[in-house]
Amino acid sequence: MNNFVQAMNLIAENCNITMQDKEKFIAKASKKMQDELSGYNANFAEIFANKVANNGYNSPIEIQNINFYSHCKHHFSPIIGKIAVSYTPNKWIIGFSRIIQCVNAFTKRLQLQEELTVQIAQEIFTKLEAKSVTVTIVAQHYCMQHTPNEALPEIKTVHII
Ligand SMILES: [Zn+2]
Repeated sequence: MNNFVQAMNLIAENCNITMQDKEKFIAKASKKMQDELSGYNANFAEIFANKVANNGYNSPIEIQNINFYSHCKHHFSPIIGKIAVSYTPNKWIIGFSRIIQCVNAFTKRLQLQEELTVQIAQEIFTKLEAKSVTVTIVAQHYCMQHTPNEALPEIKTVHII
């Protein structure tokens, strides 16, 4: 039994989930939890393995509106928002989907928005030896106190290297 299955087993017991539903709940919820925290297993060398030589492109390359869903490491509450990644290449460029894989590797962990912003920027900067990287995140934190009909504020963080 892995740790996620064990954790969901405890939750099922605490929540009085009936025997009939218990097995299904544990199987589905532990799988979901494993996916949501799969970023800890990310292999960045592999994600950036397909970089290709830059042929003199000197301007920023920006990928906008990357939707993400993460969990805050203080409350295990959802953090939901959008990420924009912009990098100015030096020697290397890379496929856009690889940038998104890099973003996912960090969002699928327990996070603080400030740290998430810096981690993504640093990884891309290092792996691509870029001239500069800017990561902008706008997100709502569901651990903030709010009444049901009151919209959560949007928190914006920007990290520039
Ligand atoms: Zn929180």
